[in-house]
Amino acid sequence: MIEAIDLKKLSACIHCGLCLEACPTYRETGEEMSSPRGRLYLMRNYTEGTITATDPEFAKHELSCLVCRSCETACPSGVEFGVLMEQTRAILVEHGNGSISKKFIYSKLLQSKPLLKALQTATAIATKTGLTKLAAKLFSRSTSTGAAMSLAPTSISFPQSRPDLYRSNHPNGKRIGLLLGCIGDVFTSQVNDATIKVLNALGYDVDILPSVTCCGALAAHGGYLDVTRDLARQNVAVFKHDQLDYILSNIAGCGAMLKEYEHLLEGTSHADDAHLARNKTFDINEFLYLHHREDLRGLLGSSFSGKRIAYQAPCHLTHGQRIVNEPLELLRLLPGVETFALDDNELCCGSAGSYNIEHPEMGEALRKRKMRIIEDARPDIVATANAGCMLQLSKEHAMPVRHVIELLAEAIGRRN
Ligand code: SF4
Ligand code: SF4
Repeated sequence: MIEAIDLKKLSACIHCGLCLEACPTYRETGEEMSSPRGRLYLMRNYTEGTITATDPEFAKHELSCLVCRSCETACPSGVEFGVLMEQTRAILVEHGNGSISKKFIYSKLLQSKPLLKALQTATAIATKTGLTKLAAKLFSRSTSTGAAMSLAPTSISFPQSRPDLYRSNHPNGKRIGLLLGCIGDVFTSQVNDATIKVLNALGYDVDILPSVTCCGALAAHGGYLDVTRDLARQNVAVFKHDQLDYILSNIAGCGAMLKEYEHLLEGTSHADDAHLARNKTFDINEFLYLHHREDLRGLLGSSFSGKRIAYQAPCHLTHGQRIVNEPLELLRLLPGVETFALDDNELCCGSAGSYNIEHPEMGEALRKRKMRIIEDARPDIVATANAGCMLQLSKEHAMPVRHVIELLAEAIGRRN
C-alpha cells in the first residue's frame, strides 16, 4: 500500500508554537526543525513538492522524533501528530530509509514465540554470566550495540511455559484477554505474572492469548505500517474468536496501539471487529481504577507502609491514552505510602520503544534529565507503567523501579 500524509490532519496545525516547550528533542537542541512545528513544516513541504522523500534533512528530523506525543497534549488545535508521524515514516521507509534487519525484527522476530524464547534464553545466559555487562563496557554508549547492552537488566529469567488460561479460585464468570507483549514478556515477564495474580484475585480468568505475539507498535513507529496493519487484522480476529469480556495491556505503548486499531482498519472488512475490540480494550491502570478501587482497598496489605513512591508517567499512557491520574490513585490505595508525581512528568525518559537504541545520544540525554529529577525527589521506589520506561530508568541505577501492578500484586501477597 502506498502511504500518504493526511492533509486534513496536517492542516489542523495553526503554527502557534505552543507545543515547542513540551517537546523533549526541542528542549535538548533548541532547533525549530527538531520541534513538532518544524517537523510539521517539513511534512507540509513534502506534500507541496518543495522537498522530496529522499531529502536527508527531511529524514533526519522526522526520524529523530520520539513519537512521545507530548505535543498532542500541548496542542490547542488537536493536531494528531502521532498518526501524521507514522504516515511520514512509512513514506520515508518506502523511499529507502528502512533496512532488512528492521524488516526482519518487525515482521519475523517480534511475531515468533520460538525466536522470542531463544532471545530470552540467550539474554538470560548473557546477564547471568556477566556478558552483557562486559559488552556494555566494550562498546561505546553512543553506539546502538553499547546502548542496547547497557539496557539489559542485571538478571532476567529463563522463558517459562505458561498455561493458556489462568483460572481464578473465586471466579466471577468473566474472561480477560491479556496481551503479554513481545519484548515486554522477554525482559519484564514478572509484570505479566503480577497482572495475572491481581486479576485472578479479583475473580477473572486470564487468557494469555497464545496466538497473539506483537501489537505492531514498534513497527508503526519504525515506519512499517503495512506490518502493523497485518498484525491488527490478525489480532482483532483472535479477540473476536476468543469471546473476551475485556482486553488488557500493562504496557503503555502496546495499549495505545491496540486502541488505534479501529483507526488503522477504518474502511476495511475488519472495521467492525476492530470497533468491537476497541470497546473492550483498557490499560490495566485504567481498568482497575474504573472497576475495582474498592475491591483492591480490601485486598491490599501494608507491605509498603512508610515508603515514598514516585510515579513516572509513560508517554503512551499520558499522551497516547490520556490516562494521567489513575496510576497515582491506585498507588494511593497502598496503606501508609506517600505517593507523588515526578516533576516535569510529561517529558519522555528517552526510552520510546527502540529510540534509546537507535538514537543513543538523545536517549541518554533524556534519561539523565529524568534521573536528576528522580534524585532530587529522593523516593524509595519509582513506579511506572511501561516496560521500556522500566528498563531505561533501571539502567546503571540502584533505585528500585517497579510497575504499578507489581506493587499491587506484592501488597496482595503480603496482607498484614
Ligand atoms: S512526538 Fe514528542 S519528540 Fe516528536 S515532535 Fe512531538 S513532542 Fe517532539
Ligand atoms: S502542532 Fe499544535 S501547538 Fe504545535 S504549532 Fe501546530 S497548532 Fe500549535
